[in-house]
Amino acid sequence: MGCKNSKERTKKYDVSRERNVLAIHSLLTSLAIMSYRKLKADKIFDGYKFIENAVLISTADGTIENVVSKEDAGDDVEVFEGILSPGFTNCHCHLELSHMKGMIPEKTGLIDFVFKVVTERHHSEEEILQAIGNAESEMLNNGIVAIGDICNNSLTIPQKQKERVLYYNFIEASGWLPSISKMRFERSKHLLKEFSQLHTPSTIVPHAPYSVSQNLWNEIQPYFENSTVTVHNQETAFEDEFFLKGEGNLTRMYEMMKIDNTHHQPTGKSSLQSYFNKLEKAKNSIHNACKNVDFL
Ligand SMILES: [Zn+2]
Repeated sequence: MGCKNSKERTKKYDVSRERNVLAIHSLLTSLAIMSYRKLKADKIFDGYKFIENAVLISTADGTIENVVSKEDAGDDVEVFEGILSPGFTNCHCHLELSHMKGMIPEKTGLIDFVFKVVTERHHSEEEILQAIGNAESEMLNNGIVAIGDICNNSLTIPQKQKERVLYYNFIEASGWLPSISKMRFERSKHLLKEFSQLHTPSTIVPHAPYSVSQNLWNEIQPYFENSTVTVHNQETAFEDEFFLKGEGNLTRMYEMMKIDNTHHQPTGKSSLQSYFNKLEKAKNSIHNACKNVDFL
């Protein structure tokens, strides 16, 4: 970087001269000048790599203007300990289930987890709404600014109307019995309409390969076009077993839930290979793969 260039940059971000002008001409408001915040930390993460000895320049409204070297930043640099980073994205959240935090014993496996989630239904709406608000605050406090949220009911809408975080709402369709596909699809469409009052994108997505019948796939696939689609993918090794041979713990789950599984046709392929082409119209797809993670 040449010396002249460096001086020009320093001048660009040095507002002390302009501050004097402001003091003399008191009629000028602070909006009349371009004022900057200069933030330095041990490291700056730009979304791709860590940068040391750098200063982040933002305009007064928080717009990121530049990342420059310490030498080029001029005076009035605010110094912080730690790392400066862009906001985080939580790409898989179940905000509406926040009231269940800590209620499900860990390491019991996916099958018992799913069974517990669908059978735990004794909380008041007030309790649920409170937990939703608290969970959103916790995410904000941890630097999360955008959330892909799985939705099975409309209870998160009042919180989302506050627009404190950017949401992408994934209306989750599920139904393993082919005979209930129309009813489940109508339910998803109704929910999608309710979410359309928000100023954030919403679309219908499949819950998991083992919980969406072919009939239901046919109904929801048109909603994938130009959308981001998410799916709970291979969260357990049993899922592959279910598609390869039609055996294993998912069969046990359907027995526990008293859901007829006789229509299931094993494909002889892994779960992902069995359904991946169904997502081909989607703009982006997020596969929430937790296979072999031991907290389930
Ligand atoms: Zn999930």
